[in-house]
Amino acid sequence: MKINLNGRLVDEKRATISVFDHGLLYGDGIFEGIRAYNGRVFLLEEHIERLYDSARAIALEMPLKPADMARQVVRTCKANGVCDGYIRLVVTRGVGTLGLNPYLCKHPQYFIIAGAIRLYPKELYEKGMSVVTVGTIRNHTEAVNPRIKSLNYLNNVLAKIEAINAGVMECILLNPQGYVAEASGDNIFAVRKGRLITPPSWCGALEGITRNAVMKLAVEMGYPVEERVMTRYDMYVADEVFLTGTAAEIIAVTNVDRRRIGSGRPGPITRRLGKRFAEFVRAQGTPIE
Ligand code: PMP
Repeated sequence: MKINLNGRLVDEKRATISVFDHGLLYGDGIFEGIRAYNGRVFLLEEHIERLYDSARAIALEMPLKPADMARQVVRTCKANGVCDGYIRLVVTRGVGTLGLNPYLCKHPQYFIIAGAIRLYPKELYEKGMSVVTVGTIRNHTEAVNPRIKSLNYLNNVLAKIEAINAGVMECILLNPQGYVAEASGDNIFAVRKGRLITPPSWCGALEGITRNAVMKLAVEMGYPVEERVMTRYDMYVADEVFLTGTAAEIIAVTNVDRRRIGSGRPGPITRRLGKRFAEFVRAQGTPIE
């Protein structure tokens, strides 16, 4: 596999980063997870925009312009013959001292991996997944704003540990006010009486690219969507619950905190949205050529 390391395509064995890079020392950096479908990079512009917003939010001077970064993503897919795959784009603060000061890191580093991912087994998509609400709360928006897709994912990792220890693969995090924020690596939606709700990003959710696409598709399909404050009650009384994410796509949640959601099977709206989303991803994107 060829890794794009600061614009150079190098063999994966030689794609190395300094132990003094603050991305490693402090989780000081940002990233994007992007999908390629059918020879096209899905919603690349949206991912690049979010990456540059994350950079602004952590006062990181990007080493190249957004359009050039987008071109590097496409170039990396092409170099690896990726047609359908998963792309990880990472920007680190770069090499600095052992102190925190990010301004002493003069050269941010970036690398792009174009590979494959399968997050959940196929049968989970057919049967729906179980999740639990965990004790780890989502980062306070004035601590590390969850809208920043930063390399500091310990909040999510701690939540994921709780999920796995409870025998499930994903979990729901509440924000410091006790409202539903999101899952450890996905956004959440609840469906009730044909209407969709999802927490607004100010409640402690990443503004997911998949989430935004699903909201648009749902409206087009005639399902009203509302971004609103959500509590666990809204999940428990929902007809359907599902998660969205670049890697997970759309996956039904049929059990929350050991309570059956709706019929206990992936619901009709989740399935319809899943089908529509699958068509959508194959129909557009930035060509890999
Ligand atoms: N929330 C978190 C915490 C995430 O890490 C992700 C991405 N895996 C998402 C939500 C979903 O965002 P997207 O649809 O842009 O992948």
